[in-house]
Amino acid sequence: MSLCFFSMTEANAGAGEPAAPDRYAAARRHMVEQDLQDRDIRDPAVLAAMAKVPRHLFVDARYQAEAYADHPLPIGENQTISQPYIVALMTQSLKLGRHDRVLEIGTGSGYQAAVLAEVAGQVYTIELHKSLAGRAEKLLRTLGYDTVSVRCGDGFFGWPEQAPFDAVMLTCAPGHVPQPLIDQLREGGRIIVPVGGVFQVQTLMLGTKKQGRLNLENIAPVRFVPMRGRIEKSTP
Ligand code: SAH
Repeated sequence: MSLCFFSMTEANAGAGEPAAPDRYAAARRHMVEQDLQDRDIRDPAVLAAMAKVPRHLFVDARYQAEAYADHPLPIGENQTISQPYIVALMTQSLKLGRHDRVLEIGTGSGYQAAVLAEVAGQVYTIELHKSLAGRAEKLLRTLGYDTVSVRCGDGFFGWPEQAPFDAVMLTCAPGHVPQPLIDQLREGGRIIVPVGGVFQVQTLMLGTKKQGRLNLENIAPVRFVPMRGRIEKSTP
């Protein structure tokens, strides 16, 4: 399954801290106040993470000036980095604790993984595209996110060697929640996932695992890139 594997055990200076106040600090503050706090993002740890992670470094140079705007941006391979509000909403919905182990499916740029690393414990993230996985891993390492491990492969199968997880997040949309991800979630754990096919309206759903099954609630209508790979041949 795994095409490549990256483990981030090297301790890097900074632990996610930008070296000096950057030229985007004001834009980032504005984003937090206007696009997050003025909506329904209340969790102090999530707001602090969004105020800290240098989102402009996760987008291509030509989009840096737009990095803190209230919309998604292209990251290559026909994929996108989510709107900041959606990143914050999904993170907040998981009600993460400092020591929680989190699995993310859809590393993309690595931005969401960095935000998760700021509020949780170990973060495991899987990306289907080798080029994106490689780039994200390199940037996360440069920024000192040594609690994040990146794997290139099909997230449908999860990361069984590291299970169980306290929380799972999908940032690509499957038609239904892959069973291996439910199996790898601990009892009482939470999963956030945009469910819906390619041309369908998708619904962001929050699930809690109770007696081996997911109790799902609807959070918001959303639009994510589709989950590819094994899920396309799988039935619920
Ligand atoms: N979380 C990312 C954005 C994700 S975009 C960020 O913060 O930048 C969705 C990503 O899911 C894309 O990079 C896409 O390649 C990936 N993806 C799609 N199907 C996948 C699968 N089966 N397993 C792992 N990643 C997948």
